[in-house]
Amino acid sequence: MTTPRLSRPTVAQVPREKARQVSEVVADDIIGYIKQHGLVRGDRLPTELELMERYGVSRTALREAIKVLGSSGVIEVRHGHGTFVLETQSLIVTPPLDLGALFTRQTYMDVAEARTAIESEVAKLAAGRATESDVQELEALHEQMKSLPHDAEFTDYDVKLHLVLARVAGNAILLQMMEVLRQALSEYIFMTVSRLQNVEDLLHEHDAVIAAIRRRDPEGAQLAMRHHVQNAARRLEQVLNAEIGG
Ligand SMILES: [Zn+2]
Repeated sequence: MTTPRLSRPTVAQVPREKARQVSEVVADDIIGYIKQHGLVRGDRLPTELELMERYGVSRTALREAIKVLGSSGVIEVRHGHGTFVLETQSLIVTPPLDLGALFTRQTYMDVAEARTAIESEVAKLAAGRATESDVQELEALHEQMKSLPHDAEFTDYDVKLHLVLARVAGNAILLQMMEVLRQALSEYIFMTVSRLQNVEDLLHEHDAVIAAIRRRDPEGAQLAMRHHVQNAARRLEQVLNAEIGG
């Protein structure tokens, strides 16, 4: 999956938009380089000159790309020493570009574990604290979701549903944890749903969570959410196996 590219520029915008596009492409290339070479925190990137030659770009475009990656915490420029990789995992939290390019099987599994820990508690609390209008909001959101083809928009609805649950749970820390997970969750869900033949099971699992919340059943909601998150992990596993083999 790729993040949407810039829309077609109007004539007046061309020079600036063009420069931005080049630096975005270079930033993607650098992310690809980090991944391909298995660079980790503290590893040094090739010099500016080497990168300019490697990607055939100007110093300006390269510096722009490095600035973008620097401000999102992927790399760090130590003046006089070079450019170094910071935590590549930080991309999970604040992805500037093509997040999917950095996701490994391990990243997906980490998301699955984090979801199990956070979201079953979220569902339990939500069932205890949901107001009637919360329940109606969840039901309406889910009804809309059912009519969508399972693509990026479906993914957005799914993510939104899980974020609304976190809000309904009424715990500011858990909500923040879900906000941190948001982008990774989106990548995770899209990876699965966009490749599934049908999403009936997923929708039934949501129905079970929402039904438990409607009857204000914390344990039931917790179980239903655990079931959903574990099944989601299983579905993802199948997709990954089909995609990359083994
Ligand atoms: Zn879901």
